[in-house]
Amino acid sequence: MTSESAAAAARATVYGYPRQGPDRELKKAVEGHWKGRVTADALRATAADLRAADWRQLADAGVHEVPTGHFSFYDHVLDTSVMVGAVPERHRAAVEADALAGYFAMARGTQDVAPLEMTKWFDTNYHYLVPELGPDTVFTADSAQQVGEVREALALGLAPRPVLVGPVTYLLLAKPAPGVAADFAPLTLLERLLPVYAEVLADLRAAGAEWVQLDEPALVQDRDAAELAAARRAYDTLGGLTDRPKLLVASYFDRLGDALPVLAKAPVDGLAVDFTGPAAANLDALAAVGGLPGKRLVAGVVDGRNIWINDLEKSLSTLATLLGLADRVDVAASCSLLHVPLDARAEDEIDAEVLRWLAFARQKTAEVVTLAKGLSQGTDGIAAELAANRADLASRAGSALTHDPAVRARAAAVTAADTRRPEPYAERAAAQRAHLGLPLLPTTTIGSFPQTARIRTARADLRAGRIDTAGYERRIESEIRDVLAFQEEAGLDVLVHGEPERNDMVQYFAEQLTGYLATRHGWVQSYGTRYVRPPILAGDISRPAPMTVRWTTYAQSLTRRPVKGMLTGPVTMLAWSFVRDDQPPGDTARQVALALRDEVADLEAAGTAVIQVDEPALRETLPLRAADREAYLAWATEAFRVSTGGVRAATQIHTHMCYAEFGDIVQAIDDIDADVISLEAARSHMQVAHELADHGYPREAGPGVYDIHSPRVPSTEEATALLREGLEAIPAERLWVNPDCGLKTRGWPETRASLEHLVAAARTVRAEL
Ligand code: GLN
Ligand code: ZN
Repeated sequence: MTSESAAAAARATVYGYPRQGPDRELKKAVEGHWKGRVTADALRATAADLRAADWRQLADAGVHEVPTGHFSFYDHVLDTSVMVGAVPERHRAAVEADALAGYFAMARGTQDVAPLEMTKWFDTNYHYLVPELGPDTVFTADSAQQVGEVREALALGLAPRPVLVGPVTYLLLAKPAPGVAADFAPLTLLERLLPVYAEVLADLRAAGAEWVQLDEPALVQDRDAAELAAARRAYDTLGGLTDRPKLLVASYFDRLGDALPVLAKAPVDGLAVDFTGPAAANLDALAAVGGLPGKRLVAGVVDGRNIWINDLEKSLSTLATLLGLADRVDVAASCSLLHVPLDARAEDEIDAEVLRWLAFARQKTAEVVTLAKGLSQGTDGIAAELAANRADLASRAGSALTHDPAVRARAAAVTAADTRRPEPYAERAAAQRAHLGLPLLPTTTIGSFPQTARIRTARADLRAGRIDTAGYERRIESEIRDVLAFQEEAGLDVLVHGEPERNDMVQYFAEQLTGYLATRHGWVQSYGTRYVRPPILAGDISRPAPMTVRWTTYAQSLTRRPVKGMLTGPVTMLAWSFVRDDQPPGDTARQVALALRDEVADLEAAGTAVIQVDEPALRETLPLRAADREAYLAWATEAFRVSTGGVRAATQIHTHMCYAEFGDIVQAIDDIDADVISLEAARSHMQVAHELADHGYPREAGPGVYDIHSPRVPSTEEATALLREGLEAIPAERLWVNPDCGLKTRGWPETRASLEHLVAAARTVRAEL
């Protein structure tokens, strides 16, 4: 191999593309199909058209091999379950009767049959359907969808490269099927699964695929020796097949670590490796293992999951280094472009200068093509692109939006004292008890109440100009009055205003903070047909005016009981936004925290005695590699304390996190130093209460006694039993009574009944104390 020949061959590729189409055609077709308005054939035709349009667009942009198989009606991990025949027993009959209806039944459940569980795809905001496997699982190959897409692309005169979830990652993402022992390890099924992959690979080769990509992102997480050995066996086996296409094993989201030598030595034809963010460490690691002689390297140098333009010169220099390390070097985005919106050019409301800093899927594709051209033909051919890129990077670096001297000075001046409440917890607790005068086992809710049709209509009317701001605010006030009246009547102790004015718990704040951008078309798939539009943390963050005080004080004016102020915490604001990449995330979190600190101060000054700062995302942003977690938790917990550390001892700070498993962050939950934490617990029978107790958590906690994820109304007896269970772990002086999470997705009838039962349970248990 010479670096000149490796360079000359350099091509551009991507692993996947946004699925929904420019106007969310796929979402509309799938939802139309569910409602019976779109036939299965029409849905399939829409899907084929969208695929063809995407491939043509990619090919026209200069992408050499187009990815197939990345498209999905719902989720690509579910598609993999179908491909290997891993249909749960309870869905088998439906799938056999009608494959498409059965597919959606697995995804969404039916009246009688539960869907597959859904969980987050690594540390992204995409959710996949968890395969359910057991010792009796029989895999069978079904390559029809994959083969069909290869044929579609070939018919368009394109070179398809099917992208499949690799066998090791597939098994590592699976869980034991219902009824199977909880300690069953799906990875033990590897030897059974590989022949099925072998069959699919042979089918794809026969259909005309020269290369097939097998995605193994699970190998960028910490893996033990047995798991690494399984990866070695998997690729020795698949690489050793005679009837197979060329194999490209891909990883992304982080560095490969100990898995890198395993893959580098495997008898496969190429590796696709991420070189962005924490995965930049792959560069030195690749050199240390002696590169990939005889193999193709696909270099992910364009960040596939954030929306900022690439630094082309920096990427070219990375690529130049890589040239000496492989037989052929191609250029790609670091991961599927599924995680970014389609086209920045559609954002006509974003300032033209700022728009030039943004790259969505289309722009990233163009960057990848430019880099491949620069690599293969020399930089003279891309001089204009390089000059424009340099100018755009300079405009971003020098902009007043990204450099607000007041914000920077304030963030730099934060002292240790600003990140700590001065009084020890015991002193605060006494002050709060005296100030609030709450009963034992105080009852409260998490913040939102049902988002009724009336609220949605009011928002739509305001947007369409059918009502003015004053008219809208009157409607919001009327909602707040209803929510307050109900809570007083039900006998809750700490009330909320119900959050009717919030479209979304992050966007609501993003819209009011300077430095945050909203997009109009920046949809990104969250799961199935649900798409979100994450706002963009683009510049230095400041708060021009109070954001919530008006509604909280209005609610407080209606009652003598304490009304909680309700804010979204800094870590969650980052987790559910696109975050600037020109400074460490901790710096951005601190800026957001300071803006929230001012809001907290204003709420306190307006007489709010209880303020809740929600951090449901604290755990999901945990880095994939354990070695990176301490640094993350340090800035994350500090940001929370900066946002809440400025209050008097008597002001009670609550936080809320919605997950039932947090063993790995229990210390962080302690470190944020909130006075009260509410957590999800109803479905896990108060397990979190025991975990907190085992940790020695010294403050107050409200493990949820009402599972709000289902319309089911818990009986008073059930809630009572859960509370008694909670008391086993947490003493009565420190136990709160609340639901698992906000009520915004619930209807009023079940909310009303459930909260009445919750209050009745609290009274029953209080009487026993
Ligand atoms: N306060 C928010 C609500 O009740 C919390 C939402 C959440 O935890 N995701 O809706
Ligand atoms: Zn929650």
